[in-house]
Amino acid sequence: MQLTAWMYDIAREQSPRTDLLDDMLARSANAGYNAVGLYLEHRFQYASAPWAAAPGSLAPSVIQSLGAKYTSRSLRVIPFLNTLGHMEGFIHSEGGQWLAEDAGIGLLSLQSCPSRPECVDFARGLIRDVLAAFEDEWVHLGGDEAQQLGKCPRCAERAAGGGASRIYGEYYGLLCREVLARGRRPCLWADMLLEHTDALKFIPRETVLFDWQYFNRPAESTARLRDAGFDVVCCPSIQTYNSAWCFLDASQRNIDEHAEDAHRLGALGVMVTTWEFAFYTQYRTTLPLIYAAGRRLARGDDWTAAIIAEGGADFAAAAQILGVAIPSASAFLRVGSWRQLRDRLVMRRNPFYLWQDWREEACGPVGDRVLALADEAASLLPGAHPLQFAIELHRVAVEWVRGVQTAHEHYVRHEYAACERLLVSAAKALNWLRPGLLAARDEGGSAADPFRLDHALRVVRRTIERVRAVATREGGAGASRWRPAFETLCHDGFMENDWAAWRSHYYK
Ligand SMILES: [Zn+2]
Repeated sequence: MQLTAWMYDIAREQSPRTDLLDDMLARSANAGYNAVGLYLEHRFQYASAPWAAAPGSLAPSVIQSLGAKYTSRSLRVIPFLNTLGHMEGFIHSEGGQWLAEDAGIGLLSLQSCPSRPECVDFARGLIRDVLAAFEDEWVHLGGDEAQQLGKCPRCAERAAGGGASRIYGEYYGLLCREVLARGRRPCLWADMLLEHTDALKFIPRETVLFDWQYFNRPAESTARLRDAGFDVVCCPSIQTYNSAWCFLDASQRNIDEHAEDAHRLGALGVMVTTWEFAFYTQYRTTLPLIYAAGRRLARGDDWTAAIIAEGGADFAAAAQILGVAIPSASAFLRVGSWRQLRDRLVMRRNPFYLWQDWREEACGPVGDRVLALADEAASLLPGAHPLQFAIELHRVAVEWVRGVQTAHEHYVRHEYAACERLLVSAAKALNWLRPGLLAARDEGGSAADPFRLDHALRVVRRTIERVRAVATREGGAGASRWRPAFETLCHDGFMENDWAAWRSHYYK
């Protein structure tokens, strides 16, 4: 296969440090990769959009120096933009609101408008800036998850005439031809083209299509794209974004299936995608797996041998516990569930939601089993090993849920001082995560995660104040035995004297 690549998701809160990026590229080449994609979105210092460059975004000068260094070592550094969907980083920056197709409430991917000429010019500016910094022949224009096609009045009118497929096809047909005219080769994600096959006829055949299938084989979809006359790169993923740490077996199977199908269907190669290292997942815990995938793809190494070669035997054993044994021990954490531990603990910005959803398992034998497995994994590795954070996350989650459960039992019995003591102690358990969050931030990982922890601690303090108010009311004149349910008391929607609490139902 021509291409053995992985893709680094800089767009999700990463601030790549030059020395670590250099090390990452060196280790990637050493593992057998011949290309690394840098997925940028708004995290690049575009000359045409200086208002979008938040602190820590990647400077063109870094790319110019590293690109030259690694071109001579046969490692390509390929830029990945987004120019239609996933423009939320631009749209949510002051000065970028005008790009939005429409409000897109509740959508993960926010789209710019493919019909307004000023939006097309904006995309051209991003492409121009990236071509000036990156030397690689390929430039990936994104194009995935454009979920708002045809939404704005102008696009709706066009969609009525020729359909959403035509809007997408004409937009990317134009941009791809412009890239070709500059002597480079455009690339696109294939999901929208697979969904809107009529758009394919607008796309120049020189465009490389990246077929991402994270939970299925790419055989059928890649065959369709190959039959339509396109070069294809098959894209599996390392499943960290949907788990507490990583679904190890599922990731390995997904990568192996992509390699087999890519080979059989004459695809250009395989690119392992990695996504969303924020909300308490971290590249520093996962890099050995990423490099091991390179060994597997480039040299056909046995998976375990590849992980041992990149992370050491102890890392491989701990990874097996975290990535296989723990998900097998808990229905809540099982393969196929969707990052429930991190979703309830951190993503919904109220850690009490984890207690609500996981208390039955976490407070019983399943919690005991998770703690025992976490202890076993921790004992294999030095105290300062990056993977200790992922282990600690599991331990903290169990201890937190158990602490809140006991606090609740005290609340039921009107033992408010004891309830408060338990909440203070459970908050201390949450705070065990801080050193690992700071270490990741200092290595270019999420700078928001330490603030997410601060926010969780404020939610605990707020709940303690509410418990005190209940205690005061109960002891006061005209005391009532009525109290809000503990679930309501710790909810974001809680309001004093809102006795029906219909805005505090769960987290909906
Ligand atoms: Zn529009």
